[in-house]
Parts: sequence; C-alpha cells; structure tokens
Amino acid sequence: MSLRAHCAQHPERPAQALCMSCGTPVCQECSTTWEGIHYCARCLGERRRSSAGARAPVATVVVVLAAAGLLWASSRVMVVMVVFVEGLF
Ligand SMILES: [Zn+2]
Ligand SMILES: [Zn+2]
Repeated sequence: MSLRAHCAQHPERPAQALCMSCGTPVCQECSTTWEGIHYCARCLGERRRSSAGARAPVATVVVVLAAAGLLWASSRVMVVMVVFVEGLF
C-alpha cells in the first residue's frame, strides 16, 4: 500500500503522496504540487520544461514579426538603394 511506502529520496520518512506521473512515493518535503496534482521533483521539472515548450508558438510569432519587420526594412533599404543608384546614372 502507498501508506506504507517511504519517500524515494528519504527512506526514513513515510511517503505523503505518490507522484501522479511516475508513481514514485514522495514525503511532504519532496512532494511538489503542480496545478493541484502531486509530482516528484524530477517529473515536475519535466512538466515545467514541457509547459515552457507550450509557450513556443508565442516566440514563433515574435520571430515571424521580427522577420517581417526586417523584410520590410530591407525592402525600404532596397528602394533607397535603387533611387540612389538611379541618381548616379
Ligand atoms: Zn514522478
Ligand atoms: Zn523526501
């Protein structure tokens, strides 16, 4: 039973919760809660990493906007260059 289990990190301490991801028993100190669900430290780290990955689309939008801005700026520079070159001849 889980009540008889001991913390994976602290064998002398009784487990207070089971990691919902990998089932590792964790004591009160080791138990970390993410959105109301218990996770061990290792799984929480993976959770945080994957949730950081979920924010990637926002970063992609920023990159696309920056690229579009750069494209726009370079097209303006090209126009200026053409006008400059045409002015020489
Ligand atoms: Zn875990
Ligand atoms: Zn512990």
